[in-house]
Amino acid sequence: TSAAEKRGFQTEVKQLLHLMIHSLYSNREIFLRELVSNASDACDKLRFEALDNAALYESESDLKIRIRFDKPSRTITISDNGIGMNREEAINHLGTIAKSGTKEFFAKLSGDKQKDANLIGQFGVGFYSAFIVADKVTVLTRRAGDAADAGVKWECSMVGDEAGEYSIEPYTKALRGTDIILHLRESEEDLLSGWKLRSIIRRYSDHIVQPILMQKEEWNQEKAENVISDEEETVNQANALWTRSKNDISDDDYKAFYKHVSHDFEDPIAWSHARVEGRHEYTQLLYVPKRAPFDLWDRTPRHGLKLYVRRVFIMDDAEKLLPHYLRFVRGVVDSADLPLNVSREILQESKDVDTIRAGCAKRVLGLLEDMAENRKEDYAGFWTEFGRVLKEGLGEDQANKDKLAGLMRFASTQLDSAEESVSLKDYIGRMKEGQDKIYYVTADSFNAAKNSPHLEVFRKKGIEVLLLSDRIDEWAISYLSEFEGKQIVSVAKGDLDLGQLEDEEEKKKVAEQAEAFKPLLEKVKGSLGERVKEVRVTHRLTDSPACLVVDENEMGANLARLLKSAGQ
Ligand code: ADP
Ligand code: MG
Repeated sequence: TSAAEKRGFQTEVKQLLHLMIHSLYSNREIFLRELVSNASDACDKLRFEALDNAALYESESDLKIRIRFDKPSRTITISDNGIGMNREEAINHLGTIAKSGTKEFFAKLSGDKQKDANLIGQFGVGFYSAFIVADKVTVLTRRAGDAADAGVKWECSMVGDEAGEYSIEPYTKALRGTDIILHLRESEEDLLSGWKLRSIIRRYSDHIVQPILMQKEEWNQEKAENVISDEEETVNQANALWTRSKNDISDDDYKAFYKHVSHDFEDPIAWSHARVEGRHEYTQLLYVPKRAPFDLWDRTPRHGLKLYVRRVFIMDDAEKLLPHYLRFVRGVVDSADLPLNVSREILQESKDVDTIRAGCAKRVLGLLEDMAENRKEDYAGFWTEFGRVLKEGLGEDQANKDKLAGLMRFASTQLDSAEESVSLKDYIGRMKEGQDKIYYVTADSFNAAKNSPHLEVFRKKGIEVLLLSDRIDEWAISYLSEFEGKQIVSVAKGDLDLGQLEDEEEKKKVAEQAEAFKPLLEKVKGSLGERVKEVRVTHRLTDSPACLVVDENEMGANLARLLKSAGQ
């Protein structure tokens, strides 16, 4: 072969390599994700360039990724038949760091291993992550469309952990694309296993669109070991379901995929699949499960959305992609705009993510509205499982308050049953002539609510009252002061004003009685002293002699009790 040319790495590359090996070791499996992701990108690039120049496919238009390992030589090889690199590209892409933000990255390095590991995770590791597990990396590559002998062999070997330079020389490569050969460090030999590699691929690269091929293995009784056969099999799913057109996806496909992403064994109750275009481009495939997951009320529940960037899996449990009260939703968001190296820390601050979150929340609420409207029974089932979580939204999601209010379901005096089935719309539809407010009562239990003395006058007049007895209700309803122009008020607060529902005569009677009972009222007030603010005559009660009410602007009694029990 012709003489290999030695070239020095850019200083930053040297630093990065050093860091990579020392900081990312605990996360070593990501090397495969990064290399597979590059292989997939290379295939995408070829597909893109071939749109204008089909000759780039040479004789092979099936794009694929191949992973092989060889125990005797202690190598893992990741091959693709994507775009490949010419000499100049190999030098530029593998010998320097061209990414923007590199300067800031290096400025932030502290020398503290732990901190720098986080930083490097945020920055993204890419090709150099190969050196986490390998002490020598050989890249054989040829750009699509170039002659076979225009290929390149790039090689970098570390002496100890130091690598100052790499070599580059011409190479004849019949097949276009790139082979990355990892010569494993001695301590990494456990990676030389079909089982191990498959499990890493399934974990991180299952939905890479191109098939990832590995050689089949068969148990050989005589040798008492697995023997690798020449036959290949695809070890990933090789199709990102959410990137397919909706028309090509059957309900069964959607359900199967749901089970895969959610680890649920039941079918979902609803889903929504959409590609969002505009300032940020992303695809969302969101599922509502039939049953609440066991950890819904845990302090740190699993969050169901997986984040992908251009079909490359980035993370599970991406809690920033949905508001907390929608934590039961499962599925996938695939962003076209976020950087591949996005980390949780970056997600925290990303404006793009805020847009995605708002879009996902809206999409889920739309899905629920549709269910509430057109599949009432299913919605009732949904409400039983997730109603309490959805109520949190009233406090958490101001932007969608009206939608959420419409989705709420309550028990009421209409049915006098504990089942929460009355919507605010239903209630408004049944309002009495002259009634301009929505009334509710809160209590510790459904029975206490139902038998509240505050309800007496309402029952007498046939006015419906919402019966709120869930722990969260009083807190939730405090965020909801009106719905469709109707005030929402507690029957237990302040001087109950029934407005036009009150007849004049009654009003007069109360005023007269207040006057007549003045001495009694003062006496009661006197003996209760500090414990009450005021004692007054009421027309609220028909059977009970007295009841406690809370001042208009004060916390409801129930909420006060709740906070007290929470130690506040
Ligand atoms: P990134 O993928 O974020 O660009 P990487 O460090 O992973 O960063 O890769 C650096 C560059 O090396 C890529 O942008 C690409 O140009 C080139 N490269 C890496 N792997 C391959 C490959 N398998 N085929 C073609 N080019 C590749
Ligand atoms: Mg990459």
